[in-house]
Amino acid sequence: SEVILEVENLKKYFPVTNGKLFGRTNYLKAVNDISFTIEKGKTLGLIGESGCGKSTVGKTIIGLNNITDGVIKFKGKDIGSLNNKEMKPLRKDIQMIFQDPYSSLDPKKKIGYSVKEPLDIHNIGEEGERQDKARQLLEMVGLSYYYMNRYPHEFSGGQRQRINIARALTLDPELIICDEPTSALDVSIQAQVLNIFKQLQEKFDLTYLFISHNLSVVKYLSDDIAIMYLGKIVEIGDVKEIYKNPLHPYTKALFSAIPTEDPNIIKDRINLKGEIPSPLNPPSGCKFHNRCPHKMKVCEEVDPNLINVDVNHKVGCHLYK
Ligand code: SF4
Ligand code: MG
Repeated sequence: SEVILEVENLKKYFPVTNGKLFGRTNYLKAVNDISFTIEKGKTLGLIGESGCGKSTVGKTIIGLNNITDGVIKFKGKDIGSLNNKEMKPLRKDIQMIFQDPYSSLDPKKKIGYSVKEPLDIHNIGEEGERQDKARQLLEMVGLSYYYMNRYPHEFSGGQRQRINIARALTLDPELIICDEPTSALDVSIQAQVLNIFKQLQEKFDLTYLFISHNLSVVKYLSDDIAIMYLGKIVEIGDVKEIYKNPLHPYTKALFSAIPTEDPNIIKDRINLKGEIPSPLNPPSGCKFHNRCPHKMKVCEEVDPNLINVDVNHKVGCHLYK
């Protein structure tokens, strides 16, 4: 299958000025040398705790951040090398859906207008065609067209997120970056919205980068998953393989916290000591070494590279050679 997104050695550092102290600039290494690819029609789930850099990855791909180093290729084109004019068609092809369904719709605009608006901005089609498309999209996410003339405050959080999904589809994108799109919703509503993501993916052969800290959500939607810790990917590969056989001590600890479906199976929950260190002052060597139950001498000194342990399974840990 065609690779649609290639991220190669991506770095995104944010300068942080330490007041007058030595007058030097420190860097927050939010994304620190990560690589992955996504094939057309597939979903990569990007997992990690808050502050690990996963949202920064999404925002950098969509162009909300400039790239510190590395390459992002969309359908073979190096996004970082394009000028504004060359970027314009790509802005249609890649869309993003954010976590908060409340702040992402303009409260003063009717929702039919908000769904149609991207067509106005890109000057696509006649007014009647634009209205038709908005109507179809709303119906596709399970909202009747007669809601077109209502305002965002008349809808629940789950409905608003469906309106956001409809709006993200207006320009027929190929890749959608979903940043915790169901985290703000009631658990009872989450499944409905996730099913809409699945149905739309099949219907339009959409590709998703699905960012979440919710392991069940990611498992349900993803073909591949990548686990991030302090700006790095520590494990990546086929979702079934990694859920069956997690290898990185951080992945193992995260997965040990998922409740089992079978109450007779009692899992040993791995409780990690300490907190995630500040990305402003990350540990030497393996970024996980101060919390790892398997730490060795080498871990403090050498940052492990990702190595292949199976056809589609990589891990970055000195336990695996
Ligand atoms: Fe633990 Fe060392 Fe592996 Fe890091 S490299 S996860 S510290 S065993
Ligand atoms: Mg986030």
